[in-house]
Amino acid sequence: MDESRFRKEVADWMAAHLSGRFACLKHRGGPGDEEAWPALRKEWEQELAGGGWVGLGWPQEHGGRELPLSLQMVFHEEYVRAGGPGRIGHIGETLLAPTLIALGTPELQRRFLPGIREGREYWAQGYSEPGAGSDLAAITTRCWQDEDGNWRLQGQKVWTSLAHESDWIFVVARSTPGSVGREGLSFLLVPLRQPGIEIHPIRQMTGEAEFNSVFFDGAVTAADCIVGKPGEGWKVAMALLGFERGVSTLGQQMHFSHELQLLVDVARANGAARDPALRQRIAAAWIGLQGLRDNGLRMLEEDGGATAVRAEALIYKYAWSNWHRELGQLAMDVIGVAGDVRAADDAGSDALRRLQQVFFFSRADTIYAGTNEIQLNIIAERGLGMPRG
Ligand SMILES: Cc1cc2nc3c(=O)[nH]c(=O)nc-3n(C[C@H](O)[C@H](O)[C@H](O)COP(=O)(O)OP(=O)(O)OC[C@H]3O[C@@H](n4cnc5c(N)ncnc54)[C@H](O)[C@@H]3O)c2cc1C
Repeated sequence: MDESRFRKEVADWMAAHLSGRFACLKHRGGPGDEEAWPALRKEWEQELAGGGWVGLGWPQEHGGRELPLSLQMVFHEEYVRAGGPGRIGHIGETLLAPTLIALGTPELQRRFLPGIREGREYWAQGYSEPGAGSDLAAITTRCWQDEDGNWRLQGQKVWTSLAHESDWIFVVARSTPGSVGREGLSFLLVPLRQPGIEIHPIRQMTGEAEFNSVFFDGAVTAADCIVGKPGEGWKVAMALLGFERGVSTLGQQMHFSHELQLLVDVARANGAARDPALRQRIAAAWIGLQGLRDNGLRMLEEDGGATAVRAEALIYKYAWSNWHRELGQLAMDVIGVAGDVRAADDAGSDALRRLQQVFFFSRADTIYAGTNEIQLNIIAERGLGMPRG
């Protein structure tokens, strides 16, 4: 498909649809702003689905459009340019769906992919526990099968993003009693709204409660709600992390460019752009962003669509998260003393509020989806072949 025609198609659709009752969503709901209009943002997900803009990289047999990455990139660029809001559906669309397409049974694919694609079912990720973060294999949440075959769960997950807005959670739990490490884990799909599950919000320094503790006390899910075989959950969990650190970040990059533009606008308006040291840092940020974009494209094979992640991905998480954390710091330096006073929550999409959110939330970028230290270990061991630490 012709790129410029496709670009125009996206831009026209966004202009026509991100209007009227959806207009208040422009540039809202991004990192640090997750509590903005959740119900309306779910309706927006359905609007997007209606336009055929969900599952762009999925194979056509699963209801996707099988678009090459270059066009997916164009979609994200135009989405952000138009002020498209943060996506509540991204965990389902970009993490679970590719995992189901790669490793799920046809029954699971038929059961769960349509709900994700149509913006009807929302997903959370149940990996981390109080004693299992970087060392994910230390998971202690247990699961077992009742006589009727249904799965039961007991334990606690933590830092679970958007669990309070989700219908389902994918959970890595220990199914083989007495097993340790990567062995004996299973990857279950569990409905969140049931008596055996409690969700407790955890408020972050952004002021938002984007993530939660999730407690399982005899929670139940159907016998066939398992991806892979019992005891083979580690393999599935790692495949999903490959998508988390790879293709799913395409859209996020575009938000970065919007944030950088906001920062430049503020610097021009308040005179910070005339400070040589700040000018230099702004230029370096712009150059860094081009590098991220190029590396993003390089690491995702054109023909691989939603599934191929190349070795270049090893440096990607480390690169983007540190770039973004620096951007948050730079934003505060550009704003100056005005940044020391927290912008009002009703300041909407004002630049000051938005850039403060970038500063606060970007502190978490070098933690979630693998901390800086873990990324450096991965680069050293897998990329450079150095001995395990
Ligand atoms: C905003 C946000 C959203 C999140 N959302 C989710 C979610 O939706 N679902 C989910 O399951 N999890 C989620 N997480 C959790 C995230 O995956 C964990 O925080 C992360 O894996 C780190 O684990 P931890 O917090 O237990 O820290 P720890 O693993 O305890 O690490 C503490 C410190 O020790 C260092 N460290 C640990 N091991 C090593 C090592 N081997 N070598 C060198 N240094 C080491 C770490 O780098 C870190 O600095 C989220 C986290 C954040 C911040």
